[in-house]
Amino acid sequence: MSFSTYWETQDWDDIRLSIGAKTEADVLRALAKPKRDLEDFKALISPAADAHLENMAQQAAALTRRRFGYTVNFYVPLYLSNLCANACTYCGFSMENRIKRRTLSADEIERECHAIKGMNFDSILLVTGEHQTKVGMAYFREALPAIKRHFSYLAMEVQPLEEAEYAELKGLGLDAVMVYQETYNRATYGEHHLRGNKTDFAYRLDTADRLARAGIDKIGIGALIGLDDWRTDSFFVASHLDYLERTYWRSRYSISFPRLRPCEGAVQPKSVMNDRQLVQLICAYRLLNQEVELSLSTRESPAFRDKVLPLGITTMSAASKTQPGGYADDEPELEQFAVSDERSAAAVAQAVKAAGFDVVWKDWDPSYSG
Ligand code: SF4
Repeated sequence: MSFSTYWETQDWDDIRLSIGAKTEADVLRALAKPKRDLEDFKALISPAADAHLENMAQQAAALTRRRFGYTVNFYVPLYLSNLCANACTYCGFSMENRIKRRTLSADEIERECHAIKGMNFDSILLVTGEHQTKVGMAYFREALPAIKRHFSYLAMEVQPLEEAEYAELKGLGLDAVMVYQETYNRATYGEHHLRGNKTDFAYRLDTADRLARAGIDKIGIGALIGLDDWRTDSFFVASHLDYLERTYWRSRYSISFPRLRPCEGAVQPKSVMNDRQLVQLICAYRLLNQEVELSLSTRESPAFRDKVLPLGITTMSAASKTQPGGYADDEPELEQFAVSDERSAAAVAQAVKAAGFDVVWKDWDPSYSG
């Protein structure tokens, strides 16, 4: 059994229609419950819930404080390579884009680590394009131990790997892996993933299963909002989380909700989600699940990030550069997408503190796992 087996039993259109059919009574019932299920989640992300956003926000904020206190974890992405053997319509790294390609050497990685440490970060997300031959296990075996020497918490967002490979990387210091399905609609997925290993929808869908079986501490899931109807995709993310928590209780989970951003060769979103709807979604995730980490990246604007922080967010990136070598020597023409929040890490930290929160630079201490 894996999530793709469960996914096969679900019908996209039935789910989309049932979300649209939720009424105000369904929303009020969901809001009144101490523990909500996936049917309640449908009501909370439905158009009928818009009129109750204030109530949702208050409950979401209270639940988040109860579980996470007044803290927010900070991390920063380190782009190791922009090589990619896939063609995704929405991404600047797509193999079909004629951009300058770069993969960091051991010396360049060391320089990036020092530049990042200089900004105070202790939790890092390694990002690459998906190039199995040039930036695959051989590269990760060299890079991970060198990077782990500098940081307490090491996450990755790279091509999906085999269970045994994840287990090996765990032994080299890997703590978390983010793997976003982009969209849970197979036909739409096919329209946006044109060439390369990423065309294998089911293999990607089962990546979280392989991660959990390999004993990875934290697994991040999500959809790229805009590729298809955001409500239906978000429902599938919630049901994926529900499946993972029931099946693999030892791992922790996080959800991201990236909205399509401008990039080289950009596509237009099929489903546009406005700021108010993103607030609704963040609150709905929190009302469904009090344990899950909710992560907000620098794709969003400073004003929006500052505003939604108290509602349910537990993790934020700051001062992100989305190109390899971006911290030690900035070459913006290599970037994956343009960030929206361009403030320094110190400036974001100051805004977080001004809102009454403590910044946690260190997500986990290696001595805890001994
Ligand atoms: S989204 Fe990932 S796999 Fe697709 S082109 Fe960009 S880096 Fe490559």
